[in-house]
Amino acid sequence: METHHGNVVILATGGSIAQTSPSDPTLTGEALLDAIPELRHRFNVLVEQIAQVSSPDITAEHWLELARRINRAVADEKVQGVVVTHGTDTLEETAFFLNLTVKSDKPVVVVGAMRRPYALGADGAANLHDAVVLASCREVMGRGVLVVLNSEIHSARDVTKTTFNLDAFKSPDFGPIGQMVNGRPVFYRRSERKHTLWSAFPLDLPRLPAVAIAYSYVGVTPDVLEGIAASDYEGVVWAGTGSGSLPKAIRPAARAVVQKGLAFVRSSRVHCSYIKRNDEVDDDAHGFITGDSLSPQKARILLMLSLSQTNDPVKIQSFFDTH
Ligand code: ASP
Repeated sequence: METHHGNVVILATGGSIAQTSPSDPTLTGEALLDAIPELRHRFNVLVEQIAQVSSPDITAEHWLELARRINRAVADEKVQGVVVTHGTDTLEETAFFLNLTVKSDKPVVVVGAMRRPYALGADGAANLHDAVVLASCREVMGRGVLVVLNSEIHSARDVTKTTFNLDAFKSPDFGPIGQMVNGRPVFYRRSERKHTLWSAFPLDLPRLPAVAIAYSYVGVTPDVLEGIAASDYEGVVWAGTGSGSLPKAIRPAARAVVQKGLAFVRSSRVHCSYIKRNDEVDDDAHGFITGDSLSPQKARILLMLSLSQTNDPVKIQSFFDTH
């Protein structure tokens, strides 16, 4: 067996991968690693506990801390890559945030588990093993932040949790970018959208602007937007039906949101949806932004980062067209 193959930093945040009781994650990152002796044998691994939470409790402060910590870690020439262990509920959001804010072409891999460590057929050890292997691989460099579960390698931009099964993580629009075969990655494509070194967003931000998501449904009423406009939000993502439709009953409230100075992004509650500008809705006339193919929760992250740079809807649209 190879020994000390690479220097990898693991940043642990909790989640089911670390959860030995139904209430809270209890296992530390060190304990996760202790369960996989082969990893300690093959890699120099430094583990740091960033949080110990279930991922619905991850906050924007955790994201900023993770981004800072990763940027520090990858600046060390001895570090080959970074793994983040994370609950699966919001894993795709943390991965996408890091995809836009890590300033390095070194591998950064976010990983979790669908089954807790005591469950029959628990997947955490295998997923963590794959993540550490990926974080030490030269072929992973420059591909943006990756997510690995169930032997599938996904781009952080495209991946989402779709079920509660072992194969929960899918990239419904564009598919995985690769897979683990015999313990090694095999890649088939790369994300064309801007990420990491190439993203428009700076290395570090003191805070993130507040952005809300408003969900559409039959009979939706304007108060969902009026409540947001009356609070301290700087932007809102509309999780519309179909291709981000905006019911006529909602349009005056949406225009009022923009007139109040908030950014308004149209996205869709449907997977595999690309929002066409000026199709049924006159986006140009109203200063709306269209969310490309991003899910509402990912459009929210890109809007938060965009608003940290500008509130010009034309400039923000250009971020959505390229990231
Ligand atoms: N509740 C868990 C979480 O932290 C679910 C998981 O990790 O699979 O997101």
